[in-house]
Amino acid sequence: MKLLMIAAPGGGKGTQGDRLAVKFGVRHISSGDVLRAEVRAGTPAGRQIAAFQQRGDLVPDEIVFELLTPVVSAAAARGGYILDGFPRTVPQAVAAADLGRRLDLTLDAAVYLNVPDPVLIQRLLARSRADDTAEVIEHRLQVFADVAAPLVAYYRDRGILIEVNGDQPPEAITEEIQARLP
Ligand code: ADP
Repeated sequence: MKLLMIAAPGGGKGTQGDRLAVKFGVRHISSGDVLRAEVRAGTPAGRQIAAFQQRGDLVPDEIVFELLTPVVSAAAARGGYILDGFPRTVPQAVAAADLGRRLDLTLDAAVYLNVPDPVLIQRLLARSRADDTAEVIEHRLQVFADVAAPLVAYYRDRGILIEVNGDQPPEAITEEIQARLP
């Protein structure tokens, strides 16, 4: 199984990614986690990433691809993956699709968890990660609003989008996704 989760910050793609990864016995790959691990490792790329993340801006595509491609390829070799946060923009989706055809990484479905903004803000303020301050949250939600609609449209056009109401209990969301997967 090869899935992509799309959701705003606080939208539950991490939670659903974990649950689906267990159900399908595949790896859950969170781009945010991979990038934060690089920050902790203190590499030059990590120092660059930290600056973007602290502002709530997207990390440049070259850095994202360099770090994510080997992780995704390794997971594909072991049966699949649940991608969470990558691809995040249409240019990333186009480049990933191109790479995917060459490396046999094409997606079975893209799952969009749709959640109203007030619910997102409540969830994010409750979890208190370093980039979960009110100001940075507002910026991350704006960045998501700018890139998400075209990304969702991109996968809808390709006939692999599954849009789910993300304002439901986690179990109900997992069930709905599973019922609607190809
Ligand atoms: P959230 O979706 O809740 O903002 P993530 O952990 O997915 O949390 O991402 C945190 C930050 O990591 C983002 O604000 C961004 O700076 C960076 N990031 C994650 N994935 C990508 C990506 N595919 N492209 C660019 N930046 C990314």
